[in-house]
Amino acid sequence: MAKLFDVAVIGAGPGGYVAAIRCAQLGLNTVCIDEWKNSEGTPSLGGTCLNVGCIPSKALLESSENFERAAKKFGEHGIKLENLSIDVPAMIARKNKIVKAFTSGIAMLFKKNKITSMHGRGMLLDRQNENQLWNIQVSNGDQSEVVQAEFVILATGSTPRPFPLVEIDNDKVLDNVGALALSEVPKRLGVIGAGVIGLEMGSVWRRLGAEVTILEAQPGFLLSADESVAKEAQKVFTRELGLVIQTGVDINSIKQNKQQISIAYTDSNKESQKLEVDKLVVAIGRVPNSKGLASDGNGLSVNSQGFIEVDAYCRTNLPSVFAVGDVVRGPMLAHKASEEGVAVAELIATIKKQAANNESLPKVDLAVVPWVIYTSPEIAWVGKTEQMLKAENIPYKVGQFPFMANGRARALGETHGFVKILAHAETDRILGVHMIGPFVSELIAEAVVAMEFKASSEDLARIIHAHPSLSEVLHEAALGVDKRALHI
Ligand SMILES: Cc1cc2nc3c(=O)[nH]c(=O)nc-3n(C[C@H](O)[C@H](O)[C@H](O)COP(=O)(O)OP(=O)(O)OC[C@H]3O[C@@H](n4cnc5c(N)ncnc54)[C@H](O)[C@@H]3O)c2cc1C
Repeated sequence: MAKLFDVAVIGAGPGGYVAAIRCAQLGLNTVCIDEWKNSEGTPSLGGTCLNVGCIPSKALLESSENFERAAKKFGEHGIKLENLSIDVPAMIARKNKIVKAFTSGIAMLFKKNKITSMHGRGMLLDRQNENQLWNIQVSNGDQSEVVQAEFVILATGSTPRPFPLVEIDNDKVLDNVGALALSEVPKRLGVIGAGVIGLEMGSVWRRLGAEVTILEAQPGFLLSADESVAKEAQKVFTRELGLVIQTGVDINSIKQNKQQISIAYTDSNKESQKLEVDKLVVAIGRVPNSKGLASDGNGLSVNSQGFIEVDAYCRTNLPSVFAVGDVVRGPMLAHKASEEGVAVAELIATIKKQAANNESLPKVDLAVVPWVIYTSPEIAWVGKTEQMLKAENIPYKVGQFPFMANGRARALGETHGFVKILAHAETDRILGVHMIGPFVSELIAEAVVAMEFKASSEDLARIIHAHPSLSEVLHEAALGVDKRALHI
């Protein structure tokens, strides 16, 4: 007889595993089905984020930043180092240890919460009528079994977008998996795509000594960020870090031989160029992982780009079937996936109690999802950019304050960047906060709280911020909206 569950979650990334934990906390009998295997061939929970995304990339960013600090910044503190070198295999081993701690931590959390964990590929099958439970086929090699559940949460995430001119082999041509596992610093590294992943991976290997050239098809740099932040970032990344960033390029061919990879492209001036590199990272975005997830004919609605179609509550077109995370619309970010997972778990618990009514249903507000790029300086934002406000004809005021004028930033020796607050010209409500500078991945949380509570810039300006701290930059930017910043 098939095993019976209240909820079956397919995918154990930050969307799926968090949904499963919250379901279990709410007393729902839950199974989580995941097919991920690590490079040793062992099942490993946590999806892209824990295995080959957020966590390992931040581990390598930290190692490479330490190396760069030691090489370029320790001197001004009077700390002298000789014969500095990097042991790449040790750096990768540290990263792998962190990944292992987190992925096995999820297995422990599943055990603690009495979640059934199944390794294998899940497929949602057809059902004859609404009174039946959903059948999910779980295949693992040549073994296959069917489990049944009243509710299903699809959380199958995303995979790297393929580039038609070249195949990923994760030896010379790398996606995020290969870029996080190099055994030595390449002399010349090419990166296709100046998005978050391209910039983070480019930064890691540049800081360790690679010559890094990033080729970007978009006509400008970081077009999704506030224009002033993108400008500052481009300046620091090119002048100080030494990344070569070319925007508006059109790649014509990529050829490889044993020694190198040759990329022929047309630059933004329509001139033919050639780039020769030892390794190439392809980071041109990610595509939703929805292929083969539902049996033909069960009617799951998937749009032309492969995203499972959902409403504001993550409900698919199939009754009692939900989808969260990278496989649905909205930012492809781990915290967005997790928040959707929590909201759906709570929604299912509400439906089980037969108390569903659209006013009280939990959902995620995509307008206040923070974005972070973990380069140096870091970049973070929430809400609307200045370009968006102009395009939407929303009247606004700006307050901006530089890290250069902040005591803590000076003591840290991290003075690049600023915080910029955009507030409505009449109501003073905060519409967007944009940051580039030290630890802005942490500072952005205060801006998210303010926006979630619909605060005005005056609210932030009246809150006491500790001195000396980086948070004073946000405070001064809030004062600056009303032209009363104190230290500039
Ligand atoms: C290099 C890199 C760095 C990143 N850094 C950040 C960051 O700093 N911050 C941030 O917020 N986001 C970051 N991201 C994005 C983040 O990793 C994703 O947004 C997040 O992992 C999405 O979570 P998810 O649960 O939707 O999907 P995933 O994490 O992709 O998990 C999906 C899981 O489902 C499994 N699966 C798929 N199909 C099936 C099936 N049919 N049956 C069973 N299992 C299946 C997959 O094997 C996987 O384990 C980064 C991504 C990359 C690649």
